[in-house]
Amino acid sequence: MKQFTVRTKVISEAIFDVDIEADSHEEAEQIVNEMIWNDELTDELRIHSSIDDERYDATQWFVCTCGHGFNENQMTDNEECPKCTTPIPAEEFE
Ligand SMILES: [Zn+2]
Repeated sequence: MKQFTVRTKVISEAIFDVDIEADSHEEAEQIVNEMIWNDELTDELRIHSSIDDERYDATQWFVCTCGHGFNENQMTDNEECPKCTTPIPAEEFE
């Protein structure tokens, strides 16, 4: 098996109603805004959320024979270790 780090980006949307008492539209919206940021609506968020967009970017990690760890973005164009220029075995690549 090869080693990867996957940068994960998930954009989700949650639409739901919160019934509260307030003196104005602005106060009502501010109260719910604070409830969101105080984690008082986590159940509602979870129940009503849907994923709008998602993206996964995998970065492969390597360890050269001398023990240097580096990822594919740090590797030289010659597919060598960037610290000691040891060639990376071909079987490490897809
Ligand atoms: Zn090395």
